[in-house]
Amino acid sequence: MKNDSCQSRSPFATLPSVDVLLRDERVGRLITDFGKDSVKQTLVHQIDQLRHAIANGESIADAQNTRAQITDRIISQSESVLTEQFSASIRPIINLTGIILHTNLGRAPYPQVAIDAMVSVSSGAANVEYNLNNGKRGKRDDHIARWICELTGAEAATAVNNNAAAVLIVLNTLAEKREVIVSRGELIEIGGSFRMPDIMQKARCKLVEVGTTNRTHDYDYINALAKKTAALMKVHTSNFEIAGFGHSVSVAGLAAIARERNLPVIDDMGSGNLLNLESYGLPAERTARQSIEEGADIITFSGDKLLGGPQCGLIAGRKHLIDQINRNPLKRTMRLDKVTLAALEAVLKLYRKPESLTATLPVLALLTRAPEEIKASAEALAIYFKRVLRQGLSVSIKACESQIGSGALPTKTIPSFAVVIECNDSTQSIESIAGIARSLPHPIVGRLSRNSLWFDCRALTDHAAIEASVSQWPSI
Ligand SMILES: *Cc1c(COP(=O)(O)O)cnc(C)c1O
Repeated sequence: MKNDSCQSRSPFATLPSVDVLLRDERVGRLITDFGKDSVKQTLVHQIDQLRHAIANGESIADAQNTRAQITDRIISQSESVLTEQFSASIRPIINLTGIILHTNLGRAPYPQVAIDAMVSVSSGAANVEYNLNNGKRGKRDDHIARWICELTGAEAATAVNNNAAAVLIVLNTLAEKREVIVSRGELIEIGGSFRMPDIMQKARCKLVEVGTTNRTHDYDYINALAKKTAALMKVHTSNFEIAGFGHSVSVAGLAAIARERNLPVIDDMGSGNLLNLESYGLPAERTARQSIEEGADIITFSGDKLLGGPQCGLIAGRKHLIDQINRNPLKRTMRLDKVTLAALEAVLKLYRKPESLTATLPVLALLTRAPEEIKASAEALAIYFKRVLRQGLSVSIKACESQIGSGALPTKTIPSFAVVIECNDSTQSIESIAGIARSLPHPIVGRLSRNSLWFDCRALTDHAAIEASVSQWPSI
């Protein structure tokens, strides 16, 4: 007699086929949402996994697991896999690390006018390289160059994809197959493997190192001058500072040496500062205009560091040199797209009204936020956390120090307030608390420091958003 009971059937036979699953109406809904190919691929994968589990002797398809139950399970797992796959990988987070311009977290928050400008040009065509006055071809740089010139005092300007690209094209244009003199104290490596010696090599120019790590003098540059010298270069030591017995030559000093030889001075400024930061109560930082006034022939700086705009690299300086840079075929490989151009133009125009910048430019608004206001934000956040955190965790408010980040003023910090979470027993780890904060629908990223989790509230301005996010803290 044929035994047809579940128990004696091969457990593999309990697995439904893809074709059967595709006829299920729940799968039909998944197809509407996610498309037939990806649904099919996911179902196949889920079935394969169960098949493996069975082959490994796991009791997937025993008497308790009927075909219907297995089908339910495959469909619901497929749904969560697809939902996860189709949700955005890059998404907004709340940066409470205390580092305002955090490279890993996308650097500057954009001003509203820049966001509006990006939206307005992104859905259709735009006059990127088109002159609306005469109907002829226009120049991409025309939208931004004059504003960069106005703000820096330079004769001409252009923009590329980021400051690393700006340095590369400047060196390649002005010094290919020739020598560039740089102080040993300025041969920096910054995050994301940007090392000045490597960039020099890729720009096909020869780096001539002079001086020592802590001290470089005029005569070091003068002694290194040679027939093949193409430029003197200064590099902002963005992420470190030499304290104690140090000396370096200013841009003015380099310009004095270079002028006699008719050589250009290049100043890679890193963070593009256009403001007198001291007048805002912040640590002093040279401005782009100062570098041009001191005699730099070409300056380069980022658009998304202190400048507070989109990722790009700005190049400003003498017109004949900018013209040469624009003729370099590399320019085509690093030009800005319409969305970045629109954002950059909007940000630069904000600087034409400096008296409003603390309100209009988010980077400056965050850096100049009043301590009492930050403390009030911390008090609000502490209340949100106390509502959801389990026993065994303490929540307090402590003074802390924020950093500007992205290589601006590396050793200077600005006083701030943080919500600090600490574990009082060993049943939970502070890492797991940080992990939960990161896994919220609107992830919150703080800073771990010696068994405590710090949420620096300088950049916490949207209380409603963070309250909503914290309220989703899992209750288990
Ligand atoms: C940040 C920085 C760069 C690179 O700029 P990106 O905009 O990150 O490409 C180059 N030079 C210096 C001195 C910097 O600080």
